[in-house]
Amino acid sequence: MKALPSRAQVVIIGGGIVGASVAYHLAELGWTDVVVLEQGQLSCGTTWHAAGLVGQLRGTESMTRLIQYSTDLYARLEAETGFGTGWKQCGSVSVARTGERMTQLRRTAAQARNYGVTAEIITAAQARELWPVMRVDDVVGGVWLPGDGKANPSDLTQALARGAQRRGVQVVERVRVTGVTVKDGVVRSVSTSEGEIETDYVVNCAGQWAKEIGRMAGVTVPLHSAEHFYVVTEQIEGVRPDLPVLRDPDGYAYFKEEVGGLVVGGFEPDAKPWGMDGIPYPFEFQLLEEDWDQFSIIMENAIHRVPALETTGVRMFYNGPESFTPDNMFLLGEAPEVRGFFVGAGFNSAGIASAGGAGRALAEWIVNGAPTSDLWPADLRRFARWADNDTWLRDRVTETLGLHYAMSWPNKELETARPLRRSPVHHLLAAAGACFGSKMGWERVNYFGKAAPYQSKLFNYVYTFGRPEWQPQVNAEINACRTQAALFDQTSFGKFTLKGRDAAAALQWLCTADVDVEVGRVVYTGLLNDRGGYESDLTVTRVAHDEYLIVTGSAQSTRDFDVISKGLGDHHAVLVDVTGTYAVFSVMGPKSREILQSVSKADFSAFAVGTSRLVDLGYATVRATRMTYVGELGWELYVPSEFAVTVYETLLATGLTQAGYYAIEAMRIEKGYRAWGRELGPEVTPAAAGLRFACKKTGGYRGAERAMDDQGRHVVSIVLDDPEAHLWGGESLLRDGEPVGYVTSAAYSPTLGASVALGFVSDATMEKAQVDVAGEMYSAQISRKAPYDPTSSRVKA
Ligand SMILES: Cc1cc2nc3c(=O)[nH]c(=O)nc-3n(C[C@H](O)[C@H](O)[C@H](O)COP(=O)(O)OP(=O)(O)OC[C@H]3O[C@@H](n4cnc5c(N)ncnc54)[C@H](O)[C@@H]3O)c2cc1C
Repeated sequence: MKALPSRAQVVIIGGGIVGASVAYHLAELGWTDVVVLEQGQLSCGTTWHAAGLVGQLRGTESMTRLIQYSTDLYARLEAETGFGTGWKQCGSVSVARTGERMTQLRRTAAQARNYGVTAEIITAAQARELWPVMRVDDVVGGVWLPGDGKANPSDLTQALARGAQRRGVQVVERVRVTGVTVKDGVVRSVSTSEGEIETDYVVNCAGQWAKEIGRMAGVTVPLHSAEHFYVVTEQIEGVRPDLPVLRDPDGYAYFKEEVGGLVVGGFEPDAKPWGMDGIPYPFEFQLLEEDWDQFSIIMENAIHRVPALETTGVRMFYNGPESFTPDNMFLLGEAPEVRGFFVGAGFNSAGIASAGGAGRALAEWIVNGAPTSDLWPADLRRFARWADNDTWLRDRVTETLGLHYAMSWPNKELETARPLRRSPVHHLLAAAGACFGSKMGWERVNYFGKAAPYQSKLFNYVYTFGRPEWQPQVNAEINACRTQAALFDQTSFGKFTLKGRDAAAALQWLCTADVDVEVGRVVYTGLLNDRGGYESDLTVTRVAHDEYLIVTGSAQSTRDFDVISKGLGDHHAVLVDVTGTYAVFSVMGPKSREILQSVSKADFSAFAVGTSRLVDLGYATVRATRMTYVGELGWELYVPSEFAVTVYETLLATGLTQAGYYAIEAMRIEKGYRAWGRELGPEVTPAAAGLRFACKKTGGYRGAERAMDDQGRHVVSIVLDDPEAHLWGGESLLRDGEPVGYVTSAAYSPTLGASVALGFVSDATMEKAQVDVAGEMYSAQISRKAPYDPTSSRVKA
């Protein structure tokens, strides 16, 4: 029998690099009543056979900072623990084979500078100087990231574990977790092959086994294994120990020096799922069979890039399974289903790079009871129960593995494992030529224009960094909405009811705005965290004295449900997710009143802004709510699902133009409306966002103490002077060559005849700036006011 404690404050399941990092950081924060349970030996799962590349740059600032921290930690860990880590800051070169890839690299480099990562655009000749064994005759250019590096994954794991043990953490090998006990929604204990451990916190760092561990506790951990490969070659002349890492994403390949030879690996576009019948046990320090067919697309491209590989022998073929998630980002945080149950898993072949920062973030979340930074891109709550489906996950990971090196096109849509969630009127939308996108599993109309059956896989999207080919259709939808009216299907909104005698009191504390309003009123409000940052923004409709309808964005519905339910405290109120119960159709535009009046006996002339009531619509009764997200007169119609088709057909019969989410996005930006996940997030206060008006002057809500701190930054509207240049979001704003902010969301505005955007700047009085569009500078007008103001008389009651 192993010497297991009968109780520990925290039990970490899994002794891979992530479990070791969580343990290390918990100990660093002073939590040492911690035990790490590993069914085999430390690092025996996936960690031991990782290639060890550590690339800093990620799609968002918070994720980039997380990995920057990993590099800092790995650089000092050896001195601190006395254990070698193999860390070498060798830098990395990425090369482009096409002009479009080069545009992507330029955009990336501009973003990197925003995030404080050194990134230098280089020519093909400079790339060859840095990496002399490659051919560059087909290389357009590249980017040099000197801060990137490589490390030895097993050694890193040992060093982290040793650092934790020194502070008192117990690491126990050869103990297998077989069950997790949950009582009243709270984790209580863990059953193991060697007995039971009572605990307050379980941290599921079980790698590709994490889905099964999650299921032991009723927690959704959406990941699936896929085979993942690299080879190690014999020595090659000119390959020296200080060679940077080389990435050739157009050829799906990466290269890393190892004892004078190369590690050659990559990310093929059509991956091979593994473990469909579960992960075998035991599975320690084990590899899968070589699959040269699957690897050939990488190897052929690698030989193209490094011709010496043609005549170099391969010493070892590594095929190791790794877990991938539905969107290629890892899974972090407290499970919404069970208090005290945390997850750090699904690292999509970036677990070595991410482990330092992810381990710290998770440890801080546990100790502080809340995240200490914006972790939304990796937040477990971006999924829901529907994602815990093995067939769906298997089909999706065939695509996600390849995303690492796929072009990161603006508005890129994933194509596999669709359709999943569909609006009741989906068939009507498809028949009208809808081009669908996918969010939170929902099929949503991006725009109407082409009949695009699912079977075509591609939905006919032609991606670009410039003006997209669908722009004319979207312009027409916007024009219809701005001059007449348009019909939008917004069924994917998250919808909850909160009912109970304390519903108003509970929401008053959670919401920035005053929600103790008359029955029939609708209130736009923020939900803040204790730091005064936005956990969400949403609308709250008082439908009865003791009942509210809460409506939020599709993407954050799990998160919002979690935030609200945890924030109810001892209040007597029950929160129920009714997302699937209602379809939502919006009729927006100056003619919306007369159009709705033509199909209803209710009086739409006496229907004030911010009010909501039941109305007849054709044969059905629906909830009509007067509000707008596009800046026009309009109503959202909440329709019980069984009436959805009838109501939609009634609305279509009025001749309304149908429109999609690309039009909504452009119109909300024209009107300066903020979106959560773009302008709003856990680090942004109402004062910084320019949303003081949606906060109670008297305070008394969560986060109020910090809400009025503008953090030295301001959300502004941006309009490009050049009508041709196209903004997508993520671009830097400069003044006299110095960074002064960045774009958070952008679209082309047919109303203004130029790209329009929202973004942050440091100086509220700024009126002009330069925008860095893939290395070219464009002048822009900056304003704290929305550039589009529809004849306000139309919007007023
Ligand atoms: C071929 C390949 C190349 C890679 N290259 C890189 C790279 O260059 N850079 C990079 O950043 N990442 C890379 N990765 C990814 C990286 O290896 C993983 O993301 C990382 O190792 C995941 O670490 P982990 O701790 O989450 O999982 P693991 O290392 O798998 O650890 C999980 C542990 O949990 C244990 N466990 C499971 N179930 C139980 C149970 N019931 N009870 C007790 N213990 C349990 C397992 O035994 C295992 O040791 C690569 C992966 C592969 C396959």
